[in-house]
Amino acid sequence: VPVVIRRINTGWLEASAGLSFFGEGRHPELPDGRLRGKPWRDDIQRADGSLGSGTMIPVPVWYVETPTARVLVDTGLPPVEELLAFQTRYGLVQAVEAAPEDDLTTQLAEAGIQAEDIDIVVHTHLHLDHVGGNRFFPNATFLVHEAELAWALCPPPYAAYYYRDFSHHTQDVLDRVTFVGNEHQVTPELRMVWTGGHSPGHCIVLVEAGFGTVALAGDAAYSYENLLYEWPQGPVIDFAAIRRGFQVLKSADLILVNHDDRVREFFPSGLISGQDLTEPVQEYMRRVRTTPSRSLEGWSDPWPPAAAEYGSA
Ligand SMILES: [Zn+2]
Repeated sequence: VPVVIRRINTGWLEASAGLSFFGEGRHPELPDGRLRGKPWRDDIQRADGSLGSGTMIPVPVWYVETPTARVLVDTGLPPVEELLAFQTRYGLVQAVEAAPEDDLTTQLAEAGIQAEDIDIVVHTHLHLDHVGGNRFFPNATFLVHEAELAWALCPPPYAAYYYRDFSHHTQDVLDRVTFVGNEHQVTPELRMVWTGGHSPGHCIVLVEAGFGTVALAGDAAYSYENLLYEWPQGPVIDFAAIRRGFQVLKSADLILVNHDDRVREFFPSGLISGQDLTEPVQEYMRRVRTTPSRSLEGWSDPWPPAAAEYGSA
């Protein structure tokens, strides 16, 4: 029985330059002097009528079916009304979009999967855009790295993307949370690997999919540019861990990042299978995976090392 991997998008969030790339992706030796999220827009419509500049990034979850378990990796966006009310309280403005067809349980049902049938939810981490659908899965065990839970339940005031206002999503399922350590074999085909970096207990998920090892990146890298340039996304709590996480991702045959719409272009049906892995996608993955690793000492070398060969990546 082959492993099934399905991408399900739960909505869209505005990502500013600084959210997509640490330091807003600026460097004079880069083409155009900066990295930008793709596709870049200056006309993002926000709820308060203002226009945002940046990228509307998808917020997907992953359904993985193995011979022994139906697994969901993260649970996506909270309800839009909850996000907008939170923004008002905190004085934030960020566009949020979720159409009725982005509803998680509806999309699962369309694929023949009932929420009650989900056995395991693997949490890459507990940021607000990864826990928003926890309440839908009454029979699931929730796997969370041991360093992550306190940040979700009782975040310090400065802990961006946790916030006490969203802790109820984790509280809702607390009696079914199981802690895991740095390496956890969920099923014979599916493994959680702690990377830290983006959050204290951040894990990626490696899936043995028959056609190769697939890395579900969580937020270890937001976009393929983060990997091509070895340039961290904005939210970082540990730079060295972020860079180690990039290398773990690059060890996989196929890297599926969350917040980059090219994954939808690569796999328009949402199903990630060997047949859908076209030659251009494989070629792109080779480029992402073979970007030279740069040790921290390497930053004194002429930089960027191979910007020309990345082209307009
Ligand atoms: Zn995150």
